[in-house]
Amino acid sequence: MLDKLKYDVLVIGSLNADLVVRTPHFPKPGETISGDDLHIIPGGKGANQAVAAARQGARVAMIGRVGKDSFGPFLVESLKSDVVNTSHVLADESATGTAIIVVDSNGQNSIVLSAGANGNVSVRDINELDIEAKVLLLQLEIPLETVIHAAKWGKQKGMIVILNPAPARKLSDELIANADYIIPNETELNLLTGVPVTDLASAEQAAKVLLQRGAKNVIVTLGSKGALLVSGHQAKQVDAYKVNVVDTTAAGDAFIGGFASYLTLESDSLLSDMRQQAASLQIVEAVKYANACGALATTKFGAQPSLPTKEETEKFIK
Ligand code: ADP
Repeated sequence: MLDKLKYDVLVIGSLNADLVVRTPHFPKPGETISGDDLHIIPGGKGANQAVAAARQGARVAMIGRVGKDSFGPFLVESLKSDVVNTSHVLADESATGTAIIVVDSNGQNSIVLSAGANGNVSVRDINELDIEAKVLLLQLEIPLETVIHAAKWGKQKGMIVILNPAPARKLSDELIANADYIIPNETELNLLTGVPVTDLASAEQAAKVLLQRGAKNVIVTLGSKGALLVSGHQAKQVDAYKVNVVDTTAAGDAFIGGFASYLTLESDSLLSDMRQQAASLQIVEAVKYANACGALATTKFGAQPSLPTKEETEKFIK
C-alpha cells in the first residue's frame, strides 16, 4: 500500500499574498496617488518553489503557516490547485504574510514585506511532522532558528537538503554545513561571503568560501549567464537558454523547483550517490534542466503564473 505521507519534495517555508498596484510614480511621504486596480497574487518564496516543483511533476508537500483572515484560505486553495499537499499548512491567529508591491511606470518595484504567520513557523511545527521526502527545500522567509532546525531534521531523516539563502543575509556555518546544496544568486552569495560577486571568477571564489565553511555543493544562479556549479570536485558553468525576457520575477524559484524535481526523478540509488558525487554528470544535467525552467519563467509576467510545467519545459528543451 502507498504511504500517504511520502513525497518527492517537502518545502518548509513562506506563503504570502502579493498585493500589487501599478502607479505612475511612487508616492512621496504624505502623498496620496491613484493606482490601477489591485491584483492579489499568491506568492512567498516557499509557496513559489513548491508550485515550481509540483508543475514539474514532483509530489510536493508544503509546511508553513497562514492567518485566519481571507488571504489564508486563498493561498491554501491556490497551492491545492497546483496539486501541492497543504495538510500541514497551519492557520493561526496572526495575519497572513503579505507583500505590498507598488510598481511604477518604469517597471521598478517598491515592496513592503509583512511576515505575519510566516514568522510563527516553529521548531515544534517541524518536530510534530511525520513525513518522508527525498528532497527538503528551505528558504529564509521563516524564522532562522526554524530553518536551522529543519536542515538538521531533514539530514537526520536522510533527505537531500537544498537551501536557497533568500532574502539575502549572513548565515552561521552550522546551517551552511547542513545543506547538501546551497543555491544563491549573485547578490545573496555576496552577502553570505562578503566577497564582491561581479563575474564568473569572483562567483567561483565566493562559492569556494562557502565550501571552506562546510558547504558541500554550491550552485550560483547567474541570470542570463546561466549557473555555476562548484563542489569539492570541480567548478562548471552551465550556459543559460536564450529567450525573449518579459519579466524575471520568480526565475530563481523556477530554477530551484526544477532542480529539486529533476533530482527526485532519478532512482534512489543514484540519489544517494549524488549526495557524495556532486560532480556527476547527472547534477550537470539537473542544472541544465533548471536553467530551462528559469529561462521559461522569464518569458511570462508574474511569479506563480510564470512557472513552467514539465511538458512546457521538455518541449522547450527539444
Ligand atoms: P533570481 O531570480 O533569484 O535573481 P537569477 O536571476 O540568477 O535568480 O535567475 C535564475 C535562473 O533563471 C538563472 O540561473 C537562469 O537559468 C534563468 N534566467 C534568469 N534570467 C535569465 C535570462 N535573462 N535569460 C535566460 N535565463 C535566465
